[in-house]
Amino acid sequence: MILIPGYVYRPEEIAVIELRTPGELDAMRAAGAVVADMLAAVRAAAAPGVRLTQLDQVARDVLADAGATSPFLGYAPLATTPPFPGVVCLSVNDVALHGIPTPQQLEDGDLLSVDAGAVLDGWVGDAAVTFPVGTPRPEDLALMATTERALAAGIAAAVIGNRVGDVSAAIGAVGRAGGCGINTDQGGHGVGRSMHEAPSVPNEGRPGRGVPLRPGLVIAIEPWFLAGGDDDYRVDADGWTLRSADGSRAAHVEHTVAVTDDGPRILTLPR
Ligand code: MG
Repeated sequence: MILIPGYVYRPEEIAVIELRTPGELDAMRAAGAVVADMLAAVRAAAAPGVRLTQLDQVARDVLADAGATSPFLGYAPLATTPPFPGVVCLSVNDVALHGIPTPQQLEDGDLLSVDAGAVLDGWVGDAAVTFPVGTPRPEDLALMATTERALAAGIAAAVIGNRVGDVSAAIGAVGRAGGCGINTDQGGHGVGRSMHEAPSVPNEGRPGRGVPLRPGLVIAIEPWFLAGGDDDYRVDADGWTLRSADGSRAAHVEHTVAVTDDGPRILTLPR
């Protein structure tokens, strides 16, 4: 553990914010490449008529081939929530996050978000993509473009001299300009030897506030926006499936990103 000089830590942060060495970042990049492979394989397999359970199996095969394991499978952050049953979150249409791989069949015109994680040699990678299934709807393409622009803006802000609030503000500004609903109950987070570490990286925030970005800090940056412009959501009785409250569609994109002396290093890009 390396503490950041000059920053006044909140008590809960002291034990958990860690900075990674260049060698550790290389190891995290290997985990991130497996995540990219999972996302590419699921995207290639997604088509009208395909069941979400089949896509989960595709992702499981990629993990097995890589000798990696899933940080999602069996994840149970709360005693009241059943363990997550898949290796990917598959969120369709008004589902924004944490969709369970059920036997639901994809339909032409669906909007699918895939969130994947991998653990390789003890290091975690975490990333997500959103894409249309079959015939895209123009409004979905606009929502996707806004969300991807927000991710790019967040990554561009992940530079030494900035703080977490600068990343949050960059993401939120793009989402609001696009007319999207944004909810900060769920968002980005530190990534390392476990999937969810400090600091948290909300999708909206105040510039110049929060944890300073230092070389070796690794964060998942993950805007998720609601097309209807309403910030509210609800969670299904399964304890996981998070939907827009207004029924509008959602998009979610994510990369695991390291802050380095050479600028942001995206650890979950395709090989
Ligand atoms: Mg994440």
